[in-house]
This record gives sequence, structure tokens and C-alpha cells, in this order.
Amino acid sequence: MKELWSNLKFAWNYAKDQKKRIFFYILCNIISIIISIFVPILSARVIVDLTSNKFQQVIYISIVIFLVEIVRNLTRYFASKNSQVVYRETFSKIQYSLGSEILKLENKCVDNNSSGVFIQRLTNDTSKIAEIFNVLNRYLGNIITNIGIFSAIYLINKTAFCYLLVMVLILYLVEHKKVSEFYKKDKVFREKNEKVSGFIGELVRGMRDIKMLDAEESFMAELDTRIIDLNKQRYAMSSVDRNYGLLRDCLIDFLDTGMIFLLIYLVVKNDLAIANALVIHNYMGRVTSIVNWVSLLMEKVKDFNLSSTRIFEIINGDEFKKESFGQKHITKINGDFEFFNVTFSYNEEKKILDDISFKVNANETVAFVGKSGAGKSTIFSLLCKMYDIDSGKITIDGIDIKELDRKTIRGNITIINQNPYIFNLSIRDNLRLVKEDLTEKEMIKACKMACLHEFVEKLPNGYDTIIGEGGVSLSGGQRQRLAIARAFVQKTEIILFDEATSALDNETQASIQKAIENLQKDYTILIIAHRLSTIINSDRILFIDEGKIKAQGTHQQLLKNNKEYKQLYEAELKKDN
Ligand code: ADP
Repeated sequence: MKELWSNLKFAWNYAKDQKKRIFFYILCNIISIIISIFVPILSARVIVDLTSNKFQQVIYISIVIFLVEIVRNLTRYFASKNSQVVYRETFSKIQYSLGSEILKLENKCVDNNSSGVFIQRLTNDTSKIAEIFNVLNRYLGNIITNIGIFSAIYLINKTAFCYLLVMVLILYLVEHKKVSEFYKKDKVFREKNEKVSGFIGELVRGMRDIKMLDAEESFMAELDTRIIDLNKQRYAMSSVDRNYGLLRDCLIDFLDTGMIFLLIYLVVKNDLAIANALVIHNYMGRVTSIVNWVSLLMEKVKDFNLSSTRIFEIINGDEFKKESFGQKHITKINGDFEFFNVTFSYNEEKKILDDISFKVNANETVAFVGKSGAGKSTIFSLLCKMYDIDSGKITIDGIDIKELDRKTIRGNITIINQNPYIFNLSIRDNLRLVKEDLTEKEMIKACKMACLHEFVEKLPNGYDTIIGEGGVSLSGGQRQRLAIARAFVQKTEIILFDEATSALDNETQASIQKAIENLQKDYTILIIAHRLSTIINSDRILFIDEGKIKAQGTHQQLLKNNKEYKQLYEAELKKDN
């Protein structure tokens, strides 16, 4: 009960804007309940009057019943309309709030969870929280209506009432048992469902690679195994439903028959008039439905509690850690930064950066070279505070990045990697994402610098062409050029190129190289390039190996002083020839 109360308080935060509608909705329900209690009493009156030939009375009562039923229909209509609006508004609020909390999660936490964890919670669980107020209104309304009928039976005959009470209690215990068994199974089902959703997400994203690898069969076999497993769990849940359903229905039939015997006994004993026995019998169906409503309510409340817990886990839980930032805000940084004895690992098994120290001055162009997996991209991620370091310190403009706010760090650094994500928007809107007030002139200039303008001009809708999810309708090179154009539009003080031109042909690479060189001296530029020939003009080159800086200097200095760098360069020259 305590859990339900705190979860309701949580859900109320998202629904309280709709309190007028909720109030109106409750009012409609109360009217409907009152009518539901009185109509059967009036109907009973009709039967009694009919048996005593009071036809005029019957006509009056029938007209009253008709009018009251019309009112009930109207209250139902308005209750339904308002409940749908309350649901819609609450649902979108919770989804928005959860979506923004997910975006605040630490990257380590995102890496460790499948996308299904977030998709399921954003869709299913939020929906279950949003519907709780309507569920309470509707189900409690139905229960109260039936409780009203209970009191009517109490007034008619106490023995029949006691019998019904025992009957409802037995049915309630059965339902209670069913709901707790169902809940346990549902918890496991949702965990499995997250895994299947995550896997389906991968299937959709990796569809091209699956086809190219000719891995359709093994992928489908894996999906099949997971779906079969999920369906077994679903079946286990429905078994609980079915088994307890059978038990409940048989019990109801048994108790129903018992009630008929009891009514006959009471009539024979002259403890009950036939008309009253008929009224009680009329009510029977609605009395048993009280158990259904209570059971459905219990299921919905458990569902709601489970969904709330799963959403709480993301919003407040220890398991889902949020990124932390400082308070200091600098609108435009100078662009120098320094790593002081930085050590970092993604997980406890392996140190990725080991006591690294270096400084980059504002407007300097520095290249990072080294074998794949040496830790170069990790340095970029740490500078953007995508991950928190284990020890040491990173400063931007002399200030520890732990003290800087999110906008100062992310708004002043652009990272362009080899596989940039392009959104399913037009080219213009993809560029506008980073600068809302982008002018046509700025956009064309950036695209010209990124060698993209000519290509865009040939597209049927030019800059307004929609380029598909993940930029599917673009080649790898075009995607990279669009990402570079995005960076040229954004023009932050620090620009990180992480293998950003790897998918380009030599000619385009050379033109972009030139565009990057034009940015040099005005911006701090860091480059990771697998082709050393593209970075030989950098002010400085850092040679990284196994998470350490093995050497640094200009290209000429490294050629002279570092054997490994020299070997790397010569190997590349050989490959080119
Ligand atoms: P480089 O850019 O030099 O090729 P990276 O910095 O990308 O190397 O990776 C360094 C090491 O960190 C690699 O061994 C890689 O497997 C590991 N790594 C990179 N990203 C992650 C991640 N998100 N989670 C766990 N390990 C990672």
C-alpha cells in the first residue's frame, strides 16, 4: 500500500495539470454510480407494481428509468472523453520526462544495457503509469456501484447478504493468489521482452550487414530462440490466467446454485417474499462482477507498481547513473586543454589510458597516431566528458572539466567520427540541428568547404531532400562530408576529427584537408587519421601506444627520433606505391 501511494504521488506529478478534467471525470462517474444503484431498485419496484396490477405506477417509473438512463449515457460519454484526454496528456509528459532522463545517463550505463531496456520503458511502462488515474476512476467506480448493491441486499435479507459476503471473500482470495503469481511471471516477461526488443533493434540497424555477411539464417535462428523463450513466458502468464479463471468460474457457478437453493429455502420458510427473491437473483450477476473488478484492479495496480519501479530505476535509481556536470559556464572558450596524469578504463578488466599527460594550446593542430585500439578515440571521448576519468584531471582553459557545465563542454567541442549519425531529416534540417538560425549563405558555404554542395545541388529537392534513417540514402563518404559540413556550421573552438575522412577518395580527402587547414590557426584541431600523410603538417603529433604517449613532436622530429613511428610511416609509403 505504501509503495502504491508513493508511486501514485509520482504519477500525479505528470497528471496534476489535468486536475480539472480528472475532477469532472470523477463527478461523471459518481453520477453514473448513483444511477446504477437506483435503477435496479426502480426496476424491482416495476416488478412489484406489475404483480399488483398498478400499471400507471409502472409507466411513471419506466419513464423515470428511461430519463435517468439517458443521463447515465451522457455522463459515460463525457467521462470517456475526459479520460482519454487525461491519458494522452499524462502519457506524453511522462514519455518526455523519461526520454530526457535517458539522455542524461552515463555512457557506461548506456553501453551496458540493450536498447530494449529503454524502448520498452519509454513505450509500455509509461503507458501503464499514464492510465492509472483512469483505471482507478473506472474500476473503483464499478466496485462502488456493486458495493451499493450489497447494501441493497443487506436491507432485503441479512442471511442472503451473509452468504454473498462469504462468496465474495472466497473469490477474492482466489483472485489475490492469481495476481501475485501473475506478477512474478510478468516481471520475468518484461525483462525477456526488453532483450527481444533490443535484439530486434539490432536486426533493423544491422540489416545491411546481416545480408552482406549472409548471416540471415543464424540471425533468424537466434531471434527465433529468443522469441520462443519469450512466448513460453507469455504462455506461462496466460496459464496462470486460465487456471485461476477456470477455478473462479466453477466457484461462481457453484455459489450461484447455492444461492438459488438458499433463496428457495428462505421463500419456503416465509422469510423472503418472492419479489425480493427475484431482486436478489437479479443482482447476483453484478455481485460476482465485483470480484472481477477487484481482480482487474489488483492486476492493474500491480502492473502500475511494476512499471513505476522500472521507470524510477532510470529516473532515480543507483543502477542507472546520470552524467554529472559542474556549474561554471563559459559561453566561448579559448580552446586550450590539458590532461594531467589521466587514467581510465571502460571496465575493471583493462586500463585503456595509463597515466597520460599532455597539453594542447588554443589554435594548435595536434594529431594522434598509433595502432588501432591504442586509446586515441578514448582521449576524445574523455575530453567531451562522455565518460568520467578514474584518476587525474582534465582542464579546458585551465578549469577542471568537472567544474564546467554541460553546455560549456559539449557546446564548445565538435567531434566528427568515421561513422557519423545522420538523422532522418532533410540536409538543411540536419545542419540546422546544430545552429537553429542557420542562413542559406552559411549553409552553402559550409557545404562547399565540405565538398558536398555539388552533390546536394544534383538531388531532386536539393537541400530539402530527406536522407533516410541513419542517412541510408547517402554513401559513407557523403555521410562523412555532411558531418564535416555540420562541424563547419557549428564552428566550435575545439574540433575533433576522428578518422573523419577515412571513407573519402583521395581527391575529396585532399580538398577537405585543405578546408581543415583553412580552419587551422583559428581553431584548436585534433585529428586521428589512419593515413599519416594527411597529418604531417600538424603542429604536433602524439604517438600513442597501449594507453601511453610514447613520443611527441613534429612529423620530422618523430621520423628522426622514434623508430616505431618511422616504421609506421614507411609501411604506409610502401602501401601507397
Ligand atoms: P583507437 O581509437 O586508438 O583505435 P579506442 O580508444 O577506440 O582506440 O579504444 C581503446 C580500447 O578501448 C580498445 O581496446 C577498445 O576495445 C576499448 N573500448 C572502446 N570503446 C569502448 C566501450 N564503449 N566499452 C568498452 N571498451 C571500449
